[in-house]
Amino acid sequence: MISDRPNPIHGSGSQGSVDDRVSGRVRAMIPFEPCVSVGRPLQDMKSLGLLLLATIVAAEQRYDGYEVLRFYPETHEDLAFLAELRKDNRLDFWTEIRRPTTDVMVPPSMMNELQRLLSSHPIAHDTMIPDVQKLVDLQRAGMPEDGSPRAMSWDSYHRLSDIHDYLDELAASYPDLVTVFSIGESFEGRDLKMIKISSGVATQKIWIDAGIHAREWIAPATATYIIRELVENYDANKDIVDTFDWYIFPAHNPDGYEYTHTNVRSPGASDDPCSDIFAGPEPFSESETAAVESFLIPENADGSFQVFLTVHSYSQVWLSPWSWTLELPVDYDDLRELGEIAITALAEVHGTEYEFGATTEIFYFAPGPSDDWAKGAAGIKYAYTIELRDTGTFGFLLPPEQIIPTGEETWAAVAAVARFFQ
Ligand SMILES: [Zn+2]
Repeated sequence: MISDRPNPIHGSGSQGSVDDRVSGRVRAMIPFEPCVSVGRPLQDMKSLGLLLLATIVAAEQRYDGYEVLRFYPETHEDLAFLAELRKDNRLDFWTEIRRPTTDVMVPPSMMNELQRLLSSHPIAHDTMIPDVQKLVDLQRAGMPEDGSPRAMSWDSYHRLSDIHDYLDELAASYPDLVTVFSIGESFEGRDLKMIKISSGVATQKIWIDAGIHAREWIAPATATYIIRELVENYDANKDIVDTFDWYIFPAHNPDGYEYTHTNVRSPGASDDPCSDIFAGPEPFSESETAAVESFLIPENADGSFQVFLTVHSYSQVWLSPWSWTLELPVDYDDLRELGEIAITALAEVHGTEYEFGATTEIFYFAPGPSDDWAKGAAGIKYAYTIELRDTGTFGFLLPPEQIIPTGEETWAAVAAVARFFQ
């Protein structure tokens, strides 16, 4: 979800009150200013943070008895109260603070205190997930504990090396269709691997990225599913492949992704770069997003990119810009037309209902996602953020049985987008 912490593409973060964030939306287009409210430079945080990360948080964290509560804020005061609660680093906001629902993970040690705080400002809520660890275990089913490499599949989740190996195998097996290259290095030195799929006939381009938020495991899994359809099912999907040159970046935040596999499944509780207990990977995506900017801006100098899709979870929404103003893009009707085509095609596969809208229509105000940047700064007309399954039963912890259905329906949506340009 868009609640994860800020990075250069996403614009400003979630520091401060709801009011601050609303008035601060003009920052959406400029690079993220880390820890403005605290004034600690990101560079210091990085060296310190990495050290802490390596030494203190060595073991995988467990979530026994952690609950995810769903709040139903109604008034501005409710939202402001949640914003106040968010300052407590023990609480992990799974969604942005928003109407109609805001999801928050609470450690068992804090439940009484939270209920006491809520007695001063009651907000309707119920328990969405009663025991987070159970879902963590379910989600890991089929994954080797030692992280040993496996051939790519979509009946379980995979580590980063499996995803990268899969791209390399495709490049080796389909040299006329596939090129794999790195657009840079992550903060910890991992390759930022991109796959370009081109049959050589298209004049238009499409961009798909996934996994900028580390704990949204379904996003990279879905991106690789789409890659498989385009490459390994090329004969069946030839018309779609030939419509665009496809640029797919399936693991946008490789450090964070690995970190959620080995250490903290749900980095949110401590992913505030301004927090003293900071241990999360999200802010490290800084170098990754810079790599995207320096790749995409010149690549789109001729305006050949028609579509930009950034894949996240969860909420089942197909979002268009803007996230920083209630005003709609001047060509919003065009964006809505294609967005509706996409979610209609998606629903036809398994009946999964998505909502389409501008970010501010659906979620009130939220930190600026990269579709804002893609449309506003990179000049790509059809820029969307996709929030995949589900609507909260599992949240970020979508079980592996849902990877293939999610892949199938999302592929149908992406294929419908491509056909729109034929
Ligand atoms: Zn996200």
